[in-house]
Amino acid sequence: MKFIDLGKQYQRIKENVNKRICSILDSNTYIMGKEITELEKELADYVGRKHCLSCSSGTSALIIPLMAYNLKENDAVFVSSFTFFASAEAIVLAGATPVFIDSDETYNLNPEKLEEAIEAALQEGKLIPKGIMPVDIFGLVADYETIEKIAKKYDLFVISDAAQSFGGERDGKKACSFGDVAGTSFFPAKPLGCYGDGGAIFTDNDELYEVMKSIRIHGQGESKYDNVRIGINGRLDTIQAAVLLEKLKILDDERRVKLKIATQYSELLKDYYEVPIIPDNCESALAQYTILTKDSSHREQIIQHMESIGIPIMIYYVYPMHMQKAFEYLNYKPSDLHVSENFSKRAISLPMHAYLTSDDVNLICEELVKLAK
Ligand SMILES: *Cc1c(COP(=O)(O)O)cnc(C)c1O
Repeated sequence: MKFIDLGKQYQRIKENVNKRICSILDSNTYIMGKEITELEKELADYVGRKHCLSCSSGTSALIIPLMAYNLKENDAVFVSSFTFFASAEAIVLAGATPVFIDSDETYNLNPEKLEEAIEAALQEGKLIPKGIMPVDIFGLVADYETIEKIAKKYDLFVISDAAQSFGGERDGKKACSFGDVAGTSFFPAKPLGCYGDGGAIFTDNDELYEVMKSIRIHGQGESKYDNVRIGINGRLDTIQAAVLLEKLKILDDERRVKLKIATQYSELLKDYYEVPIIPDNCESALAQYTILTKDSSHREQIIQHMESIGIPIMIYYVYPMHMQKAFEYLNYKPSDLHVSENFSKRAISLPMHAYLTSDDVNLICEELVKLAK
């Protein structure tokens, strides 16, 4: 059994993917080939946003917009503590300071804690609040309605880290359509993945789009060797765009299957574990299906047993950001953000992909129910 079965997925789309890759090899259009613009148009239409800019990874999909905001060391960007390292790393790489926010029971950023932290920063006066980065963790689109009200009140930009939520929805709107700008990742294991690294940025703002387009290719100006600002090499490869064009065709179908699997998991596990809370107005992209065990020793026991019978289990995330060594300089203390710390001690993610069978799910749950007693 696989945690995410990319092999089975490839068998399904093999013929078309191979054909597309071969045609790029034949035409030698490895960089910025026609598939790039084709993909950007399809992604913008899918998400329902004016502009899409493909880029080299989910990390650069966050760095590029943050660079466009011209941040300084005293500028604060408020970000979920319970996330993958890249969310916070991008803020530092863009020159600013991350301020970590605790989660609510959905694992996403808690808007009440966000407002408290903004107020506290204003009181203290060392950092200048500039932006908010909500993360759609495990595929669940964050509560942008509330977050955007707070952003308006304090005049902050919102950059959505939608690396895990592509294909997900909230109030009938697709992930990546929220915030001033949104970044997603096409790392192979993400809901929409390519066969290497890749990402995309979405915005409705024309001016921001033009600046980000320039930053993506070394701060390019009017022509190739005219550079008007500092940028990066942030392009997506043409071959990856071709893979994504094929994978986009099966994304919604895969998500429907994953939804069924998640429902089956929750039915079988809800009396024994804390299963994910998906608000009624949301459709998760199900990047992960994550449950809470009793405590860290219970978790250890589960992982060992499941490993011994060949069922892969992952821990997302072992450390919340404020407990990461790389962020020691920000002086957070243990139990500062106790909800995310609690998740880090108790959470496990179960196999989740569109090629799991209902027998697989029954087997996994049977073992987990035994281990809960
Ligand atoms: C994967 C991920 C990223 C980074 O994406 P890459 O494509 O690996 O650079 C950023 N944020 C979150 C929440 C992620 O899960």
